[in-house]
Amino acid sequence: MNDTAPAPTAPLRARAEIDLAALRSNVRALRTLAPGAALMAVVKSDAYGHGAVPCARAALAAGATWLGTATPEEALALRAAGLPGRVMCWLWTPGGPWRQAIEADVDVSVSGMWALREVTAAARAAGRPARVQLKADTGLGRNGCQPADWAELVGAALRAEAAGLVRITGLWSHFACADEPGHPSIAAQLTRFREMTAYAEDRGVRPEVRHMANSPATLTLPEAHFDLVRTGIAVYGLSPGPEIGTPADFGLRPVMTLAASLALVKHVPGGHGISYGHRYLTPGATTLGLVPVGYADGIPRHASGSGPVLVGGKWRTIAGRVAMDQFVVDLGGDEPETGTEAVLFGPGDRGEPTAEDWAQAAGTIAYEIVTRIGTRVPRVYVNEDRDG
Ligand SMILES: *Cc1c(COP(=O)(O)O)cnc(C)c1O
Repeated sequence: MNDTAPAPTAPLRARAEIDLAALRSNVRALRTLAPGAALMAVVKSDAYGHGAVPCARAALAAGATWLGTATPEEALALRAAGLPGRVMCWLWTPGGPWRQAIEADVDVSVSGMWALREVTAAARAAGRPARVQLKADTGLGRNGCQPADWAELVGAALRAEAAGLVRITGLWSHFACADEPGHPSIAAQLTRFREMTAYAEDRGVRPEVRHMANSPATLTLPEAHFDLVRTGIAVYGLSPGPEIGTPADFGLRPVMTLAASLALVKHVPGGHGISYGHRYLTPGATTLGLVPVGYADGIPRHASGSGPVLVGGKWRTIAGRVAMDQFVVDLGGDEPETGTEAVLFGPGDRGEPTAEDWAQAAGTIAYEIVTRIGTRVPRVYVNEDRDG
């Protein structure tokens, strides 16, 4: 878990400010976009680096009724923190905490016979049924049950249900290319999902929820909404990718602002090498600002020479390499005071770069930018109070 800090009384080296009003507003916007479906806020990986417990609480306050995690440990941590509502997790390995999940009322995903065997054994030991959601591989080729193996899994799950060991609460799947609208795999996966759910329902499965949509499908593909949408990145106010649009196109606002205090401002002569490997030479006499965050804090080393930072109202670019704890920007002769705020990314409306800008600079996706921000950076929560 990340450090959490109250609003700072002393200036911090660096902070990730988490705007919970923006998060709540994003959840409300997503509910409007998927009016017929319940909303699951996906809070895996510490809520994509934003802090699982405060973000889960805020999402529930704004009308999410489900929380989703990858691992069972993440789901159990939400329950341990007292979070109510439905919680589902989907990334199991043999020997996982099935019994604890059953006792904590967590919905568990089953993609194959090994998992069904383990969960039924745990239900027998716990003396109560497990809430099981059967996952279909409709084409992603990752987790989920292949169509050829579906009859066996559905049949075994129905027998376990008849024996009182499981309750089949959901049928679900996941898209491969929902962030590329019009990709032929999207329609193919939808067709396959309809076939696989119809088969299960014909055999007697009565799921509470059928679901398939991640953020991109929630934003662009109403026919994929079914009974529940599983939104992650959009809850944090980021677009799933350039082909989907900007956050503002959907009324979403980025939740995380990453800022640091300049640790040093100094004059250097022209021709001065900067940082490891001297991959940047000052083109002439200039001033440098030392930004005290590095790859240990999640700043991608691939953004060396390209990552943007707002200092004193101007965009600056990382000069030379990102090091473990720090990087340098060329301030072009400006002399902001030591301690001046350097904003790496935020919503963008104060002129600062966005996580999408960093993704572009580092050759990755915004998901990775926010998720990687390290535990050494305190999360500072603002607007925690409900705002209606
Ligand atoms: C991470 C994840 C999601 C959320 O994806 P976003 O694109 O962030 O909305 C949904 N479903 C599953 C199975 C996931 O692993």
